[in-house]
Amino acid sequence: MRFTYVTLFSNLIEGYFQDSILKRAIESGKFEVAYLNPRDYSASKHSKVDDTAVGGGAGMVMTPQPLFDALNTLEEGAYVIFAAPVGKQFTQNDAKRLALKEHVVFVSGRYEGIDERVIESFADEVFSIGDYVLTGGELPSLVMSDAIVRNIDGVLGNSESLEYESFETPLLEAPSFGKPAIYEQMGVPSEYLKGNHSKILALKLAMSECKTKYFRPEQLLKHKIRTSYEK
Ligand code: SAM
Repeated sequence: MRFTYVTLFSNLIEGYFQDSILKRAIESGKFEVAYLNPRDYSASKHSKVDDTAVGGGAGMVMTPQPLFDALNTLEEGAYVIFAAPVGKQFTQNDAKRLALKEHVVFVSGRYEGIDERVIESFADEVFSIGDYVLTGGELPSLVMSDAIVRNIDGVLGNSESLEYESFETPLLEAPSFGKPAIYEQMGVPSEYLKGNHSKILALKLAMSECKTKYFRPEQLLKHKIRTSYEK
């Protein structure tokens, strides 16, 4: 798999791939990373990529020409994603679905955003990572690509770690406890220590339900609807 980041600030992205799981995934050939800087495609004398908005309004907008020329260099089949607060909320299901693509391109906006004609012409999908506004699309692009890479076959050492993670089902993951079993006089649920796996699983399910009810009640509703269909 390949990721191409279309960004004015590739230095903000590069460091993230220099450690841990993502570094190993690149070293073992699970995916590759490339960058396209719209500034390199600007036809203007000073490599300008922004201008004031047609019709007025605060701030600068990323203009069409450098982005059109940069994105036109992509080969057939590249799947182009724009990061934008107005996009669809990115979810675990999107991460799984996109992990099956050959080449995903992330376009990061800056300033007040990207000329709409670029998005209309090139976007396969537009994603937001949450209801807040960031300075640029680099963090959203990294958030999405990290979530995608975890779902590429063979990237995570222990395949079970995906199966039981939050959002694999509507329920959130049950609380985890690392050794030692007692730390500063705080214990763990006693069932965890007895080694009866079916009882541990039942307790984990109950705790997952409690956590989901508290933090994400709408997810618990989804879980209840799903399990009522399975009965
Ligand atoms: N004026 C835009 C608006 O109100 O929707 C915000 C532009 S923001 C300052 C600049 C860039 O950051 C956007 O073009 C987008 O690429 C990125 N960005 C900011 N917040 C984001 C979010 N929640 N999800 C995805 N991308 C985001």
